[in-house]
Amino acid sequence: MRVVRIPAEVRAALTGVSRPLGLVPTMGALHAGHLALIRRARDESAAVAVSVFVNPLQFGPNEDFERYPRAFDDDMVQLRDAGVDLVYAPDVTTMYPPGFATAVDPGPVGERYEGALRPGHFRGVATVCTKLFATIAPDRTYFGAKDAQQVAVLRRVVTDLDLGIELIVLPTVRESDGLALSSRNAYLDAEQRAAAPALHRALDAIVTAVRNGERNAQRAVERGRAELQTPMREVYLDVVDPRTFVPEPEIHAPALAIGSAWLGTTRLIDNEPIEATS
Ligand code: AMP
Repeated sequence: MRVVRIPAEVRAALTGVSRPLGLVPTMGALHAGHLALIRRARDESAAVAVSVFVNPLQFGPNEDFERYPRAFDDDMVQLRDAGVDLVYAPDVTTMYPPGFATAVDPGPVGERYEGALRPGHFRGVATVCTKLFATIAPDRTYFGAKDAQQVAVLRRVVTDLDLGIELIVLPTVRESDGLALSSRNAYLDAEQRAAAPALHRALDAIVTAVRNGERNAQRAVERGRAELQTPMREVYLDVVDPRTFVPEPEIHAPALAIGSAWLGTTRLIDNEPIEATS
């Protein structure tokens, strides 16, 4: 496994690499969710690259960029064990040298929900991913369904900029009680951790209501809301079109139940697909 830190080293390392090349972008502090993406990339690609970069552009001024978990040495052990060929781990001034000014703006799909709560977040995500795609030139790239709006944004970017990269989305990996794995779960204390699965229960309740024939989003969401109790504080609970993130007052599968809630100073996000039934 090669670990490189600047674009020229990436290009040199990947000259003549076996194709197809799969890329898994991450912010490190790796967990089983990341490893599921890497395993799939390993299974179906001839070579695998993983990027590890905590991207300041996607954090707001009052967010957790400074305290975001960093576990570089442990990450490298896991990536080597997973059979990764190349790790790209640039530092911030390599990614954004003085004078850096270009941005990729994904438009309306990035403006609701997470985009409204975190102004500039998806522009930061779209910009860094476009840079990673340009540097690494993968044939396919792997993302988790956990960050569903990020997936919708990147589908737009890959399509609109004719990047010719296949975007592969894998299901959310969960703890046995339903909590979606996230590097930020490390922020939860014991009481918050015990309360955290309620968000997934709320989403499941929405999906069940729809499966039982409810088509009205407001009524389905109310079923979910009943699961959210103190200490959890709802930020949003809704049903959207998974491609555009436009809310669906009348639910037409395939749709997506999405939710976010505060536990103390940690904001959880999650989602569950509402599949079309035949
Ligand atoms: P991050 O390091 O949080 O930026 O995540 C890197 C990639 O891992 C993104 O595509 C995430 O959607 C994905 N990911 C994060 N958590 C999970 C999870 N619990 N299950 C599946 N994929 C995940």
